[in-house]
Amino acid sequence: MNKKKDIRALTKEALRDFFVENGDKAFRGNQVYEWLWSKASHTFEDMTNVSKATRAMLEENFVINHIKVDSMQRSKDGTIKNGIKLHDGFIVESVLIPTPKRTTACVSSQVGCSLDCKFCATSRLKRMRNLNPDEIYDQVVAIDKQSRLYHNHKLSNIVFMGMGEPLMNYNNVIKSIEKITSPEGLGMSPKRITVSTSGVPKIIKKMADDEVKFNLAVSLHSAIDEVRTSIMPFNTNFPLDDLRESLEYWYEKTERTITYEYIVWKGINDRKEDIQALVKFCGYVPCKVNLIEYNPIDDGEFQQASSSAINNYISNLEMHDITVNVRRSRGKDIDAACGQLANKS
Ligand code: SAH
Repeated sequence: MNKKKDIRALTKEALRDFFVENGDKAFRGNQVYEWLWSKASHTFEDMTNVSKATRAMLEENFVINHIKVDSMQRSKDGTIKNGIKLHDGFIVESVLIPTPKRTTACVSSQVGCSLDCKFCATSRLKRMRNLNPDEIYDQVVAIDKQSRLYHNHKLSNIVFMGMGEPLMNYNNVIKSIEKITSPEGLGMSPKRITVSTSGVPKIIKKMADDEVKFNLAVSLHSAIDEVRTSIMPFNTNFPLDDLRESLEYWYEKTERTITYEYIVWKGINDRKEDIQALVKFCGYVPCKVNLIEYNPIDDGEFQQASSSAINNYISNLEMHDITVNVRRSRGKDIDAACGQLANKS
């Protein structure tokens, strides 16, 4: 068994201390830290500005746990789905989504998911463990490389919409975003990062208290408790009133608009009262609505509503001055679209 510590679990200060304790200069810690994060190096061998003896000493004491792109599928529309192998053999998926103006990385935050949304393929996988900050960071680095290679520009946006519920792995998600946005990491703007959640009120409030600078998206899908609980059973524990209260708190503290993700299904939430409830919910805090296309996960229980039902949503929302976007899904032919991530391979 490998007892060596993962070096990326160390803070910069701890790394500097390690070198001092071993008779070297604290500055050596900065150099190694730079290799580990901004240069995203996965071997000590790469670290050519530190001596061979130092590299050997690091090798003796630490490992660099890292992900590997294990499989890669490319869609007709340019979307790339990656099967990502973690150091302990688990697989998660990350997706690169290109548009003419930008490329977006859709990253996973957990192995499997502990929520039980009936319409989502990932919910069929048991949650095995949380991803570490470096495992989330590495997904972004891998997709940035693919973006440069296949689309000739660097990654522009990140969405936490892959496998897992990011707010159930809050500490590690926050640490990964700190590294992604830090000049000592990837230096990306937090404005280009969106964390998507099914809605965990306590953590939404904590995020507001922590003054996070990234965007918040909430997978709403229904503004009626009864309906929402039937498709997202965890809503029993976190009912809409609590969600609403946490979102009001979020807005008070951050003054940042919330995005609601919403799928319209036939016979589930395509009635007049469903629309009215959403319009009412949208009145609580400044927000916009993304109507997302449903990606079937092959049991036929859920079906995308008719275009007239969807148009009803759009006209009602617009009538109340609520911004609404219709999001077409990408990478469907390779099961890379929202809700389809389930390690079929
Ligand atoms: N747990 C987080 C992030 C992962 S899901 C969340 O719930 O937001 C990312 C998005 O995909 C969510 O908006 C989710 O509701 C949506 N989604 C899940 N299954 C889907 C499906 N089959 N078709 C389309 N979107 C789906």
